[in-house]
Amino acid sequence: MEVYSINKMRDTLSVFPLAILLHDNSTNSYYANKSAQKLFHIDEEKLCNRAQVNITFMSPQSKKRFSIDALFDRYINPHTDNHIILNIKKDKLRLNAKLANLSNTLSLITFEHIHTHIDEQNHFDNIISKISTELIDIQNDNINDQIDYALKAIGNVCHADRSYLFKFSNDRKSMSNTHEWVNEGVTPFIDRLQNVPDSELPYFFDVMNVTHIFKASDTSELPQQAKAEKDEFELQKIKSVLCIGLRYDKEIVGFIGCDCVKKQRDWSDVDLIRLKLVGEMIANAFKNINYKEELEQTQRQLINANQKLNELANTDGLTNIANRRRFDETLKNEIKRCARYKQSICLIICDIDFFKLYNDNYGHQRGDETLKRVASSLHNLCKRQGDLAARYGGEEFAIILPATNSTNCKVFTALIQKEIAMLAINHNYSNVAKHVTLSIGFYTLIPDKTTTPESIIHNADKALYIAKETGRNKVSEFVISNQNKNS
Ligand code: GH3
Ligand code: MG
Ligand code: MG
Repeated sequence: MEVYSINKMRDTLSVFPLAILLHDNSTNSYYANKSAQKLFHIDEEKLCNRAQVNITFMSPQSKKRFSIDALFDRYINPHTDNHIILNIKKDKLRLNAKLANLSNTLSLITFEHIHTHIDEQNHFDNIISKISTELIDIQNDNINDQIDYALKAIGNVCHADRSYLFKFSNDRKSMSNTHEWVNEGVTPFIDRLQNVPDSELPYFFDVMNVTHIFKASDTSELPQQAKAEKDEFELQKIKSVLCIGLRYDKEIVGFIGCDCVKKQRDWSDVDLIRLKLVGEMIANAFKNINYKEELEQTQRQLINANQKLNELANTDGLTNIANRRRFDETLKNEIKRCARYKQSICLIICDIDFFKLYNDNYGHQRGDETLKRVASSLHNLCKRQGDLAARYGGEEFAIILPATNSTNCKVFTALIQKEIAMLAINHNYSNVAKHVTLSIGFYTLIPDKTTTPESIIHNADKALYIAKETGRNKVSEFVISNQNKNS
């Protein structure tokens, strides 16, 4: 009889897909084939020095833990199935272990995963509920990671080698692979499968558009019309395919699917239901993202419309400068601000001289044009932040100059007169000049908490009245002694 030895067997055993542990009692040495090394996350060197091996097993019945040595010594009965639990890192794997004594000194244990249906379902349910809560969250920005995770889960649970998400173009004439998961050793296709026209896979597109499901347990048995698809599947070595359409508002926008390459799979109803579930979750996530984007866009439009409305509500329709409403608001705020910083504020009110005569002689339309030109000149003079020129009423304008004292205000009013003179708008019916002129009244003060807009307007108005009374085309300042100064 031939004598077994570890060395003789290791080459042979290394290629087995089954996880195998060998033990040589005479030398107390171990050997793990490639599959076992993968299962236990160890390499051979570590196995020789078992102090470094952090693997324990557990008996499902007694819940007792034991080491690799004990596995060979006591816990495995030869020639029967032995259910054991492998504790590895944080995972607990259910294994079926079988012991064979090859010689007096040499024994071998094979390990197989036990996939219970319940375990698998629980695992899948956990993953799905985790992903679905993440995907439902419309604030979620890492949808791509979640889709990748979902594809891996569905790929694993359906024992597929590849799972993927495709999106149709808007005209549904082509499709692109947006996400892909592949099993170990399986070639990814995502880069190759971009903008695939419907003419390349006509049968697939037809079936998908009509039934929203494409199911082929054995791709070689697809009908005659599916020649292009068969060729493609053959090229990619795809034995089984299952795809389910993603619907958005009743329209099909793409699909999610699984391929089997290594071995063929008869797709079960459970596979179909699971794939559908993941597909619906992804479609809903896209819907949420779209809603979010639409909502944000509507919000932006509303904000813009509101801004425009606000501007309209604060702008004079004829002259396009601030209206009375904006003037009132600004004056109130600037009084408060200047009071807080103990700064002076100046209010100027000006009125076009003999404007009734202007209108009567040149017509209302020219009157309007003149109002616009005067308004624009006044507006352009207000260069500092906080300065505001407004149409106060009819042919009257008001200018607010925060942080401006009497001296500076005088300079400003002189500038107004100069600018208006430069406009040189003919006014042959004025008693004071050949062109349109303004009478100007202003009032400057350092406001306090008790200062009201009305009192300031009242005083500036009084100054304007004096300017009119004393001949027009003049500037008058209101001073508290009630003696108004003219210039
Ligand atoms: P004074 O020098 O005393 O200010 O005389 P005035 O004629 O300018 O004053 P009055 O108050 O008698 O007349 C104001 C004129 O302004 C009368 C009105 O037709 C004209 N006016 C007011 N608003 C508008 C407007 O929006 N467009 C036009 N074209 N004219 C306007
Ligand atoms: Mg006037
Ligand atoms: Mg007037």
